[in-house]
Amino acid sequence: MKLLVTGGAGFIGSAVIRHTIQNTTDEVVNLDKLTYAGNLESLAEVSDSERYNFEQVDICNRAEVDRVFAQHQPDAIMHLAAESHVDRSIDRPAEFIETNIVGTYTLLEATRHYWQAMDANRRENFRFHHISTDEVYGDLPHPADFHPSPLAEEGQGEMGQQELPMFTETTPYAPSSPYSASKASSDHLVRAWHRTYGLPVLVTNCSNNYGSYHFPEKLIPLIILNALEGKPLPVYGKGDQIRDWLYVDDHARALYKVITEGTPGETYNIGGHNEKQNIEVVHTICDILQELRPQKRSYRDLITNVKDRPGHDMRYAIDASKIQEELGWAPKETFETGIRKTVQWYLNNLDWCQRVQDGSYQRERLGVG
Ligand code: NAD
Repeated sequence: MKLLVTGGAGFIGSAVIRHTIQNTTDEVVNLDKLTYAGNLESLAEVSDSERYNFEQVDICNRAEVDRVFAQHQPDAIMHLAAESHVDRSIDRPAEFIETNIVGTYTLLEATRHYWQAMDANRRENFRFHHISTDEVYGDLPHPADFHPSPLAEEGQGEMGQQELPMFTETTPYAPSSPYSASKASSDHLVRAWHRTYGLPVLVTNCSNNYGSYHFPEKLIPLIILNALEGKPLPVYGKGDQIRDWLYVDDHARALYKVITEGTPGETYNIGGHNEKQNIEVVHTICDILQELRPQKRSYRDLITNVKDRPGHDMRYAIDASKIQEELGWAPKETFETGIRKTVQWYLNNLDWCQRVQDGSYQRERLGVG
């Protein structure tokens, strides 16, 4: 298979490309604009491979996307290119509308014309896989809102998860931020191109990812790097917002399974079965750092509560039983094993962190509204 990956220089896209080159015989074309979030160094492990190609192209540029299709003749497309940071979408929503909505539309139209011109056999096997987020579903009630709280029940697990509602593939869309609204919009476009034109699409909606090569604006790398520099560890509001965390390499395996084995027209939710309050995540990172880079003062002393994000969703939780039952995928990492690997990776790759931040971003607070 020749796989075209958009956004392949980003956090998840680079994990998908590393996974594909290292574990299959497929060829990969990485189509990426290289915004502040895209970094070719994240592909250093595989970029020498003869099966890897890079095209610096904006998905909004139809002529250039057409040229890449004509030149490389892909068998399948995984679409990950996007503006992805909620806080930035609060400050500058226009870029999210442009890339996530107009860019997806442009890519869909280019794909449709390319696919319609294929011979019957290749056309039959062609796939367009759109990668989306659980944030399109809006937020779920917090355990603290339940009376009596499931947290008080014995034998219900740490968060009382069995008792609480979760996102399934049929949960209605109710996005809260400019980011999630732009992703929801792109999901609707992709499904419409399937229904109207018959384009063989797959959609996946995934929970929060974490792992190596994550740009330091996102919670986990930001906390690790600030802690190492003795800087305040900003926690939005009370830090009681709940997210489900998935290790990025588990997501990459899931995406490859969906594009090769999934049924066109279907949606698959992907999650890690790891619901944690943000403050728990920060405490865990502090405790691992205390073990790996001990210091007299506890890293937890650096925690600083700051004004909450406007429109902040309280809880996300993914029911990933469909992909597990139909495609046999399950995450390999628990949060405890994945977060330890992640902290260790950042400790070993501080030079990467320095280089990707240079000039563009100094871990300042974004998205105060
Ligand atoms: P990222 O911000 O790390 O990477 C995005 C990549 O897209 C970058 O390499 C960037 O250069 C590229 N890009 C941006 N605009 C482009 C354009 N106009 N043309 C071509 N390339 C462009 O994002 P990520 O965290 O890797 O997320 C990838 C996808 O997965 C996104 O669609 C995101 O919505 C989705 N997603 C992310 C998460 C998460 O936790 N990070 C969870 C679920 C879904």
